[in-house]
Amino acid sequence: MPAIAKVVVDIAPLNKEFDYKIPDKLLGRLSLGARVSVPFGRSTVSGFVVGFADRSGHGHLKDIGSIEEEAVSIDESMLRLVRWMGEYYCSSLEQAIRTVLPSAVRRKGARFRKQMFVSLSSPNGVCLQSKDLSTKQNVVVELLRNQGCKSLTELTSELGITSAPVLALQKKGLVSIASQSVRRDPLAGRNILPTEPLKLMKEQGEALCVIRRIIDLLASEAEGQNAKGGEAGKKRQGESSVVLLHGVTGSGKTEVYLQAIDSVLRNGSGAIVLVPEISLTPQTLERFIGRFGSNVAVLHSHLSDGERHDEWHRIRDGHANIVIGARSAVFAPVKKLGLIVVDEEHEPSYKQEDAPRYNARDVAVMRGLMENCVVILGSATPCLESWANVKKEKYQLVRLSRRVDKREMPLMRIIDMRVETERTGRMAVFSRDLLEAIRVRLERAEQVILFLNRRGFACSLTCPRCGHVAVCSQCSVSYTYHYEDDKLRCHICGNSKSVPGKCPGCGDLEFKFTGVGTQRIEKIVQKCFPHAHVQRMDADVTSRKDSYERILGDFKSGKTNILIGTQMIAKGLHFPNVTLVGIVYADLSLHMPDFRAGERTFQLLAQVAGRAGRGDTQGEVIVQTYTPFNSAVQAARRLDYDGFCDQEMAFRKELGYPPFKHLICITIKGQSDEKTSFCCKALVRELKKKLLSNVVMSDSAPAPLRRAKGFYRWQVMLRCTSTGVTTRIVKDVVNGFKFPKGITCSVDVDALNLM
Ligand code: ADP
Ligand code: ZN
Repeated sequence: MPAIAKVVVDIAPLNKEFDYKIPDKLLGRLSLGARVSVPFGRSTVSGFVVGFADRSGHGHLKDIGSIEEEAVSIDESMLRLVRWMGEYYCSSLEQAIRTVLPSAVRRKGARFRKQMFVSLSSPNGVCLQSKDLSTKQNVVVELLRNQGCKSLTELTSELGITSAPVLALQKKGLVSIASQSVRRDPLAGRNILPTEPLKLMKEQGEALCVIRRIIDLLASEAEGQNAKGGEAGKKRQGESSVVLLHGVTGSGKTEVYLQAIDSVLRNGSGAIVLVPEISLTPQTLERFIGRFGSNVAVLHSHLSDGERHDEWHRIRDGHANIVIGARSAVFAPVKKLGLIVVDEEHEPSYKQEDAPRYNARDVAVMRGLMENCVVILGSATPCLESWANVKKEKYQLVRLSRRVDKREMPLMRIIDMRVETERTGRMAVFSRDLLEAIRVRLERAEQVILFLNRRGFACSLTCPRCGHVAVCSQCSVSYTYHYEDDKLRCHICGNSKSVPGKCPGCGDLEFKFTGVGTQRIEKIVQKCFPHAHVQRMDADVTSRKDSYERILGDFKSGKTNILIGTQMIAKGLHFPNVTLVGIVYADLSLHMPDFRAGERTFQLLAQVAGRAGRGDTQGEVIVQTYTPFNSAVQAARRLDYDGFCDQEMAFRKELGYPPFKHLICITIKGQSDEKTSFCCKALVRELKKKLLSNVVMSDSAPAPLRRAKGFYRWQVMLRCTSTGVTTRIVKDVVNGFKFPKGITCSVDVDALNLM
C-alpha cells in the first residue's frame, strides 16, 4: 500500500505536486481525486490527491490532515483528462482542475438551497378538534389537508399570516416542519411542449444508422470488458468512434443528434451536447427539453452560482442524463457517458482564451476516447483540422447534402462594389441591386436579414486633412463611433470618450467617419425604406437583458421586416419567411492578418447564407464585396465546401500551417514596450537552444494587436508536427525563465486567435 500521496493544493497556480505522508488512520482510504486538508506553510489548505508513491525524494514529509468528505472530489477518469489537458495545453494542474470543477461546486460553502417545508404530522389519522385551534391555525390545517406539503414562505404568504400559527401547530404536534433542498432551476416557469421523434429523411436515416452502429459496438465492448473484469478490451478494428457530420444548413442535423441521444439513453448511458454560447438560445434548449424533459440539465455562463451548483449535482447524481451547454459543459460529470455532440464544431468560441487554453471540441474527442464513447462533430462548414482528420481516417465522415423537405439552397449573387463605386463616383454602402432586392421583398411581405460583422456606427473617425485617426489610448486600435450615446468606444477594452469637436491633429473641424457599422446601416435602411420596421441585433443591443428574445420574437412574428445584425444572427436561427440575406461588406473578415482569414470568410458566408430560404420560397443571398474573385468568396458562392477545402489545404500544406502542423503561439505582455520585446527575444534564444531542429520558430515580433488594455504584446510562433515533445520543452523553458516583475507570458497551443 503506497505511503505517500501527491497533492495539488487548491491555491494560486504553483504548478507543483507536493508529497505528503499518508497517516495510518487514512491508509487505504484515499482514492485518486479525493479532496484532502493538508498543512501548507503555516496554514491548512484544501487539495486534491493526484497520485501515489511508495517513497519520496524529499525528507521530513508532513501528514495529510484529513479527507474532506463533504467537498466534491474528482473521479479518476476526469483526473486523467485533467492531466492530459495540463500537458497538452501547457497549463498547470491546478488551472486544469479548476476548469473541470467549477468554483460554484468546488468552493467551500457551496451547497443546495434549503427551505422549510410544512406538512401535517398525520394526514388522515388524528381527527383534529377544530374548536381547539384558532381560526388561523384551522386555515393552515385546511390548506395542508388539501395541498399536502408546502413551503413555509409560500404558505404564510398565500394565507397572509405570520409563521406564529404554524409554529403553534408544530408545538401541538399537529404539523411538522422540516428543511428540504430545493432546486434552483434555470428554466423554471417555462412551458415547453413535448415533441416526438420525426420520421427521418433518407440521408438522416443513414447518418443515424452509422452512429447507432458505433454506439452499439461500444456498448457491447464495455459489456465484454466488464465480463473480463475490467481488463482493457481489444481495440476496435480500426474503426473510429468520432463522426464528422457534415450537413448543409437546414439539413436536419439536430434531429439526428436527438435520435442518437435517444439510442444512448436506451443503453442506460448519458450524453453531452455542446453548442456555441451564442447559439445557446431558448429556441435551442426547447428542442432538447421538448424531447427529453427534465432529464436535460443546462450549463452556461449566464447561470447563477446557485443554479450551476444544482445543475452540476443533478448531473453527477444521475437525475439528469443529458447536458446541454457551452464550452465548459464538456467537463460535465455525466454518469456513464455514451455520447458527446459538438454542434458547429468549427466555431472558434470553443477555444478558451485563458489558461488552460483548451478547445472544447478537441477535449470532447479526447474524453470520448478515454471514456469509450461516441463523439459527433457537426457543422455545415467543418474546420480544416477536422477535415484533415477525416482524410487521415481518424474521423468517419457522414454527410447530409440536402435540406429537409427538398428545400432549395439559396441562390448566391456576388456584387462587385468596385464597379458600383465607379458608376456612382463614391463609395456606396448599398448597391442598387441590393436595394432593389430589399424593395421587392418588402412588397411581397417577405423578410430580410442584413449582415455586417461590425457593430457601432462607423469604423473610425478620420481627419480628411491630416489623416489623424482617433485611436484608443490603451490599445492600438481605432475607436468605433456609437450613434446612440454619441460616443467613441474601443472594442478591445470597452473604454469610451466623447467625440472631439475638432481634429486633435490639425484642428480641422471636418472630422469624418469612415467605414460602416451596424448602427449606420440601420440609419441608412430606415431612410431608404421609411415604412419598413427595422431592428438591429448586436452585442450593444443585447447587453440589455431579454432584448435578445424580444428582438427575435418580433422578427419571428413578422412584426419586423428587416433585421440587421452581426455574427449574432449568422447562426442557427430558423425563420421560414426570410427570403433575402444581404451581406453588406464581405471583405471585413478577409483582411484580417490571420492565415485562417479565408476559412473564416467561407464559413461566415455559408452560415449567413443558411438563414435564407428556410421556408417554401427559394432564398437569395446578395454578397457585396470589393474582392469578388477571392477564392473563399467564389467557393462560398457555389457553396462548394470540398472545392474550398482542396484549394485551402494546398495553401496550408505549402506554408506548413495547420492542419499540417500544430501552431503554438507564445505571447509576452508588459507595460513597457522595450522590456516586453527584450524578454520576448531572450525567450526565443532560450527556446532555440532546447527545441528540436524540426520545430519551426518565428522571430519575436509585435502582435498584430500591438497594445491592448494598456499592455504591449510581443509574440513568437512555433510550428511542429507533434505537440507532445515540444510543449514539454516549452513548458520547461517558460517555467525556468525569470520574467521581470510586470511581464507575463502565455502559451497557446493550437492557437486560433493570432491577434
Ligand atoms: P440544421 O441544424 O442542419 O441546420 P435543423 O436541425 O435546424 O437543421 O432542421 C431544420 C428544420 O427541419 C427544423 O425545423 C427541423 O424541425 C426540420 N426537420 C428536421 N428533420 C426533419 C424531418 N426528418 N422531417 C421533417 N422536418 C424535419
Ligand atoms: Zn482600448
